Amino acid sequence: MNEFGKHWEKVQERIQAACRRANRDPREIGVVAVTKYSDVEDTARLLDLGLTHVGENKVQDAVPKWKVLGDRGTWHFIGHMQRNKVKEIIGRFQYLHSLDRLSLAQEIDRRVRQKEAEPLSCFLQVNVSGEESKFGISPKELEEFAKEVANYSTIEVAGLMTMAPIVENPEEVRPIFRELKRLQKQLQRLDQPRLRVPHLSMGMSQDFDIAIEEGATWVRLGSVLVGGGKRGR
Ligand SMILES: *Cc1c(COP(=O)(O)O)cnc(C)c1O
Repeated sequence: MNEFGKHWEKVQERIQAACRRANRDPREIGVVAVTKYSDVEDTARLLDLGLTHVGENKVQDAVPKWKVLGDRGTWHFIGHMQRNKVKEIIGRFQYLHSLDRLSLAQEIDRRVRQKEAEPLSCFLQVNVSGEESKFGISPKELEEFAKEVANYSTIEVAGLMTMAPIVENPEEVRPIFRELKRLQKQLQRLDQPRLRVPHLSMGMSQDFDIAIEEGATWVRLGSVLVGGGKRGR
């Protein structure tokens, strides 16, 4: 087995262990293989392992990879999205994990219509930690924002996404994940057909075990799959 294969096996074991602790079914957990540290060849190697969901955070890196490997997977855009780049992902990427403002929703709507593309599945990014450096809607504004987004038939609200702060001990970020779960339930109580918010995209290499214990249904994993030494953005 190659190096990525070994990493992937360990990740699967950790997902199963976290699910056992939380009494969850591992089939509920989707893995987005974050390929921002990987070139086309390494991205292909990850796909060879049977990982089918690919995550990229920069349009200029994502599109060339998509052109080679696009039909081999399902593509997730996980980084901050600029309005003028939306047209690049519509019709190529199925998921956007970082919908955080109405002007972006408007542009998605415009481009999906223009290309007669399928609705884009979007996670509403929430800045739970309140760090100024982080993108995302504040928890207080979330409900109103979600209701507005639900009005666009070109956008499917897949769920909520958050990025936890980088900390020494991952236990410190457990409350952040728990809060995202609480916000999901709050939206679900509105009982609106276009606001089912079924998914939670939370957990990265440093903290995915804890995110799973707190209800993640998508984890976004980069360095833990491709090797710790390849960090850097
Ligand atoms: C880079 C990145 C990840 C993955 O980070 P790792 O720590 O390498 O697992 C997840 N989500 C987003 C939004 C990212 O930019």
